[in-house]
Amino acid sequence: MKKIFSVLSVFLFSISLYCGVGKYKVFKKDKYIGAINYYEVNEKIYFDLNDAVKILNARKDVYSVSSRVIIYLNGKKLNISKDSVNYDNLESINVSKPVIIRASRYFVLSDIFINPLFSKVFEIKVDLDNKSKIMGIYEDINVTGIKFFSYIEKTRVVIYMSKELKYNTDVVGRSVILTVFEGSYITQNENLNVSDGNIKDINVSQDKKTLKVAINMGENYGSYDIFTLKDPDRIVIDIKPKVEAEENRIGKVIEPTSSASQSSATFVLPDKIKKNYDKKVIVIDAGHGGKDPGGRVLFGKKEKQINLEIAKKVYELFKKDPNFEPVLTRDSDEFIPLYERSKKANDLKCDIFVSIHSNAHKNKNENGYEIYFLSEKATDPWASDVADYENASVEYEDKVFDYTGAALVLHSLARNEYINEGSKIAAYITKEISKNTPFANRGIKQAAFYVLRGTYCPGVLVEVGFMTNKKDKANLDNSSVQEKVARSIYKGIAEYEKQHK
Ligand SMILES: [Zn+2]
Repeated sequence: MKKIFSVLSVFLFSISLYCGVGKYKVFKKDKYIGAINYYEVNEKIYFDLNDAVKILNARKDVYSVSSRVIIYLNGKKLNISKDSVNYDNLESINVSKPVIIRASRYFVLSDIFINPLFSKVFEIKVDLDNKSKIMGIYEDINVTGIKFFSYIEKTRVVIYMSKELKYNTDVVGRSVILTVFEGSYITQNENLNVSDGNIKDINVSQDKKTLKVAINMGENYGSYDIFTLKDPDRIVIDIKPKVEAEENRIGKVIEPTSSASQSSATFVLPDKIKKNYDKKVIVIDAGHGGKDPGGRVLFGKKEKQINLEIAKKVYELFKKDPNFEPVLTRDSDEFIPLYERSKKANDLKCDIFVSIHSNAHKNKNENGYEIYFLSEKATDPWASDVADYENASVEYEDKVFDYTGAALVLHSLARNEYINEGSKIAAYITKEISKNTPFANRGIKQAAFYVLRGTYCPGVLVEVGFMTNKKDKANLDNSSVQEKVARSIYKGIAEYEKQHK
C-alpha cells in the first residue's frame, strides 16, 4: 500500500509540473502574427527561446556551458546570464532562474520582456494577458517617461515624448485627464503615488489609440497650468495649491519618485527638497585643480589658482549674507572629478551652482568675459569649443565614469527644467560684471558643460577673462580686480534671488 501511494504521488507531482505548457497567441497592432510556446513553473511563465526570437525578429547566441543567452534586437543586446539580465550594457537587474532548459530546449522568463526597461531600451513593448494567453507587441513607443517633481510652490508632471503629439485636457471632478493622441507608453498601466497635497496619484492607462493620464488631485489643489516644451518634446502640467494652503506646505519634505520606481533602473531625481527653508545653498565651484591645471600660461598664476582665488572671495561675500549658505567644491589645490563636483552640489540640495573659470585662446587679442548656462546645443562654434575644453578635465580622472550612458541622458532631461533659470541668473551676473569690472562683455552663451549637466539646480559657468590676453591677465592676477568680479557674481545672484522669491 505504501509503495502504491508513493508511486501515485510521483505521478501526481509530475502532472502538476507539466500542467503549465501551452501557447500564447501573439498580436502585433491587433494583427495575429503567430504563437509562442510557454512553460509554466511555480506560477512563472517561460517562453520558448526560439519562438521568442522569431516573434521579435531578433537573433540569438546560446552558450550552453554557462547557460548564457544573448538576444540581439534592433541593434542592441539583451544579455541573460545565470542570475541577472543586462539590457544593452545600460542596466542590469537580478533575476533568479531567468533561463530554464526543458527537453533540451531553452525557455526564457517572461518578466524579462515585460519589464519597462525592455521597452525603454529596445523600443518594443510586450504586453501579456496571462488569463487569455495573449501577447501584444507594440513597436511605436513615443511616450518614454512620466515623472513628477514636488516643488515648494507647485507639483510638476512631465510627459516625455520622442516626438510631438497632440493632446487635450478635461477636468472631471477632482481629476485632470490628459489624453495623448497616438500616444504609446512603455507600459500598459501604471499608478504613481504622489501624496504631496497637490496630487493624490497619477493613473496612466493605455488603450489602442490613446494614452490617458489621470491626475487625481489632493486636498491642497488650487489650479493647474499646461504647456509644452521642446528638445526633448514634453508636455508639462503644473499643479498649484490653493493660496491659503501654501503655508502648510512650507518645510515639508517631499520625496520625488520616478515612473518606474519598481525597477532598479529608476533614476530618483532629487529636486527642490528643502532642508533649510531660510537659506539658499550656493555651490561655488573653482574650475580645475590639482593635476588638472586648466588653461596653461607661461607667466603668472595658472588658471586653477586664479579660479580658486576668485571662488574664495565669492564664498566670503555669501558667508556674510544671512540669506545664503555658500559651499566651495574645493578650497585648496586639489583634483576633484567633475561628477563629484555635481554630486556634492546635489547632496547639499543646491539652489544655485556657479562654476568659475578663466579663458584661453591662441589669438592673444581675444579678451573679455563670457557667462554660460547649460544647453545641449551650443550657441556658436566658439561656445562648443569652450565646452569641449572645460569638459576635457574628464581626461584627468582615474576612475572611469560613464558620462555618456543612459544615466546622463535622463539627468539632462531633468536638467532642462533648470535651463531657463540658468539664463536668468547669467543675465543678472552679466549686468554686474559689466558695471563693476574692467572686463569686456562677450555675451551670454549656451553650451553643454558636464559640471552643469549633472547638477540638479540652475547653474552658470563664468569665464572671467583671457589668460592669453596681456591686459586681461594682469587683471585676473590682481586681487582687487578679483574682488570686484567676486562682488559682481555675489550681487547678481542676490538680485536674482530677490526678484524670484
Ligand atoms: Zn577652465
